[in-house]
Amino acid sequence: MSDLRILITDGLDENGQAILRASAQVDLFPDWSLEELTKRLGGYDAVIIRGRTKLGAEIIRNATRLKVIGRAGVGVDNIDLAAAKERNITVVNAPMSTSTAVAELTVCMLLALAREIPRADASMKAGQWLKKELEGVELYGKTLGIIGIGRIGEEVGQRAIAFGMNVIAYDPFIEAQEIKQRGAEPVSIQDVFAWSDFISLHLPLNVSTRDLVSRQAFSQMRDGVRIVCAARGGIIDETALLEALNSGKVAGAALDVFSSEPPGATDLIKHPHFIATPHIGAQTMEAQARASRDIAEEVLAALQGKPLRWKVN
Ligand code: NAD
Repeated sequence: MSDLRILITDGLDENGQAILRASAQVDLFPDWSLEELTKRLGGYDAVIIRGRTKLGAEIIRNATRLKVIGRAGVGVDNIDLAAAKERNITVVNAPMSTSTAVAELTVCMLLALAREIPRADASMKAGQWLKKELEGVELYGKTLGIIGIGRIGEEVGQRAIAFGMNVIAYDPFIEAQEIKQRGAEPVSIQDVFAWSDFISLHLPLNVSTRDLVSRQAFSQMRDGVRIVCAARGGIIDETALLEALNSGKVAGAALDVFSSEPPGATDLIKHPHFIATPHIGAQTMEAQARASRDIAEEVLAALQGKPLRWKVN
């Protein structure tokens, strides 16, 4: 048996676990406190996490044996990358595995907003028949503004085109020509705000994108705009969003991600024109199987000094 020791702190699909077990000793999902994790992480060569475990600077600096951090999914905002670099720890993720799941959830949210599906269902369960009140809108012929047309943004755009939507996109890191090849009309962020009937966010959270969708941004949008975010909490200023829903500026909003998770039953969550899901973008059987397989192979490759597909740092 190999001497390699790998810790899995959050959930990991059985597919990936089997790949890891063939080459290493694997410890699963310990219910350790942050203190305990800080003390014991140093006994492992690699750790695999999802979104729940936060690997801050102190925990990483203490982990003397640790060589690889694997994130079974895309976002690495729960890992202190600078501390990992300092300690020469390789960080890898599985960025291709969950795009389709998140894109499909986004399309669900666009349709659910357009036709008020959650409200229709809740009213039926309450014994009501709100046929007259539940007059929705069509996606067909409407403009979808995508902010961040990377892997997920592109997949959302393709699906929106299939619904007959006009797709525009803002992404400062992608050439206009490439945005066109991804099926969208390249525009400025102001144009996304001004022209869109629906806006969908697919960019990372960082210092320059925090509160990007602010009170000022809402004031530039069309009256009755609908907005979806399955990217990261904190990109939309949730206080400004609640104000915009209350004033009717925003006709509907759907979020899968929140600035603080779980957010509790806040006024935003309880708003009748707001749809909430508990960060389930990547939660499909297929995406989790893919993510676990991809990250298991990538972590083993990193430990064995083989070429890497998804090195983050
Ligand atoms: P990606 O890196 O492929 O695409 C992100 C795009 O955003 C890039 O094209 C980048 O150029 C662009 N971008 C960066 N800064 C920008 C800015 N200031 N304005 C506009 N565009 C900007 O990433 P992806 O895999 O498509 O993921 C997109 C988002 O979805 C990320 O925030 C990721 O964490 C999130 N995500 C959420 C879930 C979920 O469960 N809801 C699951 C997976 C990914």
